[in-house]
Amino acid sequence: MAPFFRLAIATVISAAAFVSAAPVNQSKSSPVLQKRSGASVVTRCTIPSTVAITFDDGPFLYTNGLLDILKSRAVKATFFFNGNNYGRIEDFAASVKRAYQDGHQVASHAWDHRDLPSLSQSEALGEMTMLEEAFREIIGVRPTYMRPPFGSLNGPVLEMLGERNYTAVTWDMDTQDWAHPTDFDASYKLYETLFNNPEEIKQPGHIVLQHEVHQVTALQVVPMAIDLALVRGYKVVTVGECLGDPRSNWYTV
Ligand SMILES: [Zn+2]
Repeated sequence: MAPFFRLAIATVISAAAFVSAAPVNQSKSSPVLQKRSGASVVTRCTIPSTVAITFDDGPFLYTNGLLDILKSRAVKATFFFNGNNYGRIEDFAASVKRAYQDGHQVASHAWDHRDLPSLSQSEALGEMTMLEEAFREIIGVRPTYMRPPFGSLNGPVLEMLGERNYTAVTWDMDTQDWAHPTDFDASYKLYETLFNNPEEIKQPGHIVLQHEVHQVTALQVVPMAIDLALVRGYKVVTVGECLGDPRSNWYTV
């Protein structure tokens, strides 16, 4: 597929679709958006001084190196894995298993990165259940957290996700590494702006969108960003942790 074009186009479409098609009972003070029925949509952490770095579109060539980086700094992150995108999940099963065993949050990014609202109901359901099966094979459970490809959601998709006990996770900070995958400075300066603001650490933490399929992101931006976060006193945690949701809720059978 041509991910950059698809991402660029779909991000614009999905933002509009989400606003119009997924009305929410939105409290201005709460970063967790509750819909009347269907899955909850999370855009931001609830706990101050946390940051949840999230990695989409893997597993791929750099997953293992990224896991080494996270381990060396004793921090946790969230992986929104696909079944078939840059790599096929069965080819990188060892990396997926390691992410789970290392205590990171393993979550779903649906099977092959299709725009869920554009699919029939059975196709959209299949995007979730195919990957659930693969996760059960590899780690013995399936995640209860998911990120919709392109951040794209609508009412019927949220309904389906809610029936399957998913929490949908978008983000409130986009490094846009998908648009400039080789530009270190463009991604990193966003972290610098965030972590160098002394007021920021008192606010609820951020959910940061990154893509582990880009070498510069995985092996250069992320270690530098984590080091700066730690120096400034942030806790680098999973999405579940930054919401105060215990690990026992992140997976089901
Ligand atoms: Zn993606």
